Amino acid sequence: MGDIAFEEYRRAIINTIEQYIPENYGYERHISCLAGNCSFTINWQGMIRPCVMQSMPQVNVFDKGFLQGWETISNETKKILINEACVSCRYRPICNTCAAAALLETGNYDGIPEYICEYTKEFYRIMKEGARIC
Ligand code: SF4
Ligand code: SF4
Repeated sequence: MGDIAFEEYRRAIINTIEQYIPENYGYERHISCLAGNCSFTINWQGMIRPCVMQSMPQVNVFDKGFLQGWETISNETKKILINEACVSCRYRPICNTCAAAALLETGNYDGIPEYICEYTKEFYRIMKEGARIC
């Protein structure tokens, strides 16, 4: 990224966070990416899952068949909720957290992944300082 583009990028991030109004973004606790909503993965063992980062829910399509596997994954995905704090968090627009990250970092879908929290806040601090990180 050139200096001008980087400065625009940096200012856009700062403006986004400083002017953040949760109602304007409409984040939800449900999974908002494609995983389990309209996409899936099937590993070499035949386990269908919402995405490659999630180890559950899962169904063996060799045993249950694809249609039943997909319906289970789709229905179970609708029950997954991330933490309420992440929905209203002012850093949410620049945070890379997701249900899979919460599960992997904390063991629960509604856990708050501390590592990602710290990463996001440090990224914002660096942007505020105007320093380049790459
Ligand atoms: S890793 Fe997270 S954002 Fe990516 S597909 Fe899985 S749940 Fe969605
Ligand atoms: S992981 Fe932390 S920084 Fe990210 S949205 Fe949740 S509370 Fe905010």
